[in-house]
This record gives sequence, structure tokens and C-alpha cells, in this order.
Amino acid sequence: MPVPKIAIVIPVFNEAAVLPELCARLDALFAAQPDCAWEAILVDDGSRDSSAALIRAQAARDPRYRLVELSRNFGFQSALSAGLARADGADAAVTMDADLQDPPEIIPELVAAWRGGAEIVRATRRSRRETGLRRAGFDLFHSLYGKLTDYPIEPNSGTFGLLGRAAIDAFNALPERHRFFPGLRAWIGFPTADVPYDRQERAAGQPQQSLRRLARYAMDGLFSFSYLPLRVLTYCGVSIAGLGFAAAVFYAVRRILGIETAPTGYTTLVTLLLFLGGVQLVGIGILGEYLGRIYDEVKHRPQYIVKKTGGDRR
Ligand code: UDP
Ligand code: MG
Repeated sequence: MPVPKIAIVIPVFNEAAVLPELCARLDALFAAQPDCAWEAILVDDGSRDSSAALIRAQAARDPRYRLVELSRNFGFQSALSAGLARADGADAAVTMDADLQDPPEIIPELVAAWRGGAEIVRATRRSRRETGLRRAGFDLFHSLYGKLTDYPIEPNSGTFGLLGRAAIDAFNALPERHRFFPGLRAWIGFPTADVPYDRQERAAGQPQQSLRRLARYAMDGLFSFSYLPLRVLTYCGVSIAGLGFAAAVFYAVRRILGIETAPTGYTTLVTLLLFLGGVQLVGIGILGEYLGRIYDEVKHRPQYIVKKTGGDRR
């Protein structure tokens, strides 16, 4: 049976402080698992420190390491896409952070789950290390995301995981630009397995993702997978117009019964205001429905993804 080829895709941004340890731990993994052909694809996302030089030196020493150098800092999602697009020959690709918060020692378990038949393996955190504002933000995002979209993501999983060949191809075929990896991984489907692990502290250096970046990333996640926010306008509009109608009936009945309390003109004003406001919101909501559909078309996601057609090398 041929040896499966596993690529490890790692976006790197200003990680010179952790790269030596990362390479050492990957080397240990490669040595301990000779039943796979390993390849580490390190994507340098426009680092301003010596990260690219370190990776280049490592690649010169060891042909299992590959450097993909981006022309500037494009952000984590783009770097990840660049790496996955270059995992051509691989039977599976592991996606992980460079900072060793995702321990490489878990990778054999991911591979085992893949060999057991899962096309997508998510490493799920038993515990989260974030606290304070970041933590509150994560919790808020996951509760909103779960309510708004039809493709639930596992709240305790991030990028760390494995994609089989069919899943890599499906991911690479997605042409959309605002990429939210966990959402897309859920969207492409396929049999999925979870492997629990303990998230580690950063081996060295500072988090490279600012809170602002994370917030933008969260918006990408929400707005790429839901147009419920557009639909909310229609619901509000219908409710407000309904309220206007009810007010009209209420005041008309009172007048007929001879109970006159409101000053002259008040009834007409309130009724018109509510009713017209509602009608306008419904109008915007209808535009929103078209916009949502146009958005869907523009994203150009494939209509379906084939799970399997031929043989398999796991
Ligand atoms: N990263 C990247 N480009 C960026 C920011 C981060 O490639 O613009 C990489 C970074 O080197 C690390 C991973 O993305 O390998 C996760 O970044 P970080 O540890 O800062 O994020 P957090 O752990 O806070 O989610
Ligand atoms: Mg990190």
C-alpha cells in the first residue's frame, strides 16, 4: 500500500521567535511517524522579522519543508488559502497555527481519524485559554452564529484540523474572497470527525491577530453565511405596518362609539406614520431579498460537491 502524503499548512506572520521550536517539534513528529510522507508548507504572510529567512534556511536543509512567500501581509485566511492551494500532491492537509497553540503532537490522532474514514477532522479544544474581552467576543460570536446560520460550526474548533484530498479540492474551488475557514469547512460537508485536545499557551511572541482583525473576521463569518439580517427588515416592516393598521381600527372604533380623547388630526398622523414607516421597511426588505440572492450568486459557491468518484489511498 502506498504511503499517504500529508501536507501541514502553516500561516506564519512575525513568528521568528517560535519557528525553531516549531521545526524541531515537526521534525520529531516526522521521525515518529515514518508511515506517512510529510511535507510542511509554511506560508510567510509578509512577516517583518526574520521568519521568511528562517523558513528558507530550513527548506534548504530539509526538502520536506517548503516556503511560500506572500508579497505583503494579506491576513491569516489568505495565507491559509495560499498554502492549501499549493498542497497539490497531498492526500490530506493539516491546517494549524505557527505559534504552537495547536500542538503538532496531536497530528497523528488527526491522521488516524482520517484513515478511519473522516474526510474532515476538526481538533476541538477541551479548554479555552482566552479570557476577558476576547473570550466575551468569542462567546457572543458563537451564540449569534449558531442562531443566524444554517451551517453550524463547532464552537470549540478553530483552524486546527485536517482536510482529505476531496475536501482540499472543494475548498480550493471556492472562489469567494471573504473567507471564514470554519464556516466554509462546515459548508463543504463530508463526513467529519472531532479530536479533542488541550489548547496550549503561545510558545513565544505576541498574538498577531488584533482584536479589530478578529472582529472583522467574525463579521465575515456572519454575513457570508446568513442573510437573516436582511430579512429582519421585512419582519420589522410588517409588524410596524400592522401596528399602524391596528391603531387606525382602534381610533375609528372609539370615534364611532363617541369616545373622543385624541386631539384632532392625531389619529391620522399616528396611523399614517406607522403604516408608511412599515411599508417602507417592507420595501427595503424586498430589495434585501433580491440583494441576498445576488450575493449568493456572486459568491459563486459550487451548487454541489462530489464526495467520491474513484479510488482512495488512505
Ligand atoms: N497569522 C498570519 N497572518 C496574520 C496574522 C496571523 O499568517 O496577519 C498567523 C500567525 O503567525 C499564526 C496564526 O496566524 O500562525 C494565528 O495567529 P495568532 O496566534 O496571532 O492568532 P490567535 O491565536 O490569537 O487566534
Ligand atoms: Mg495563536
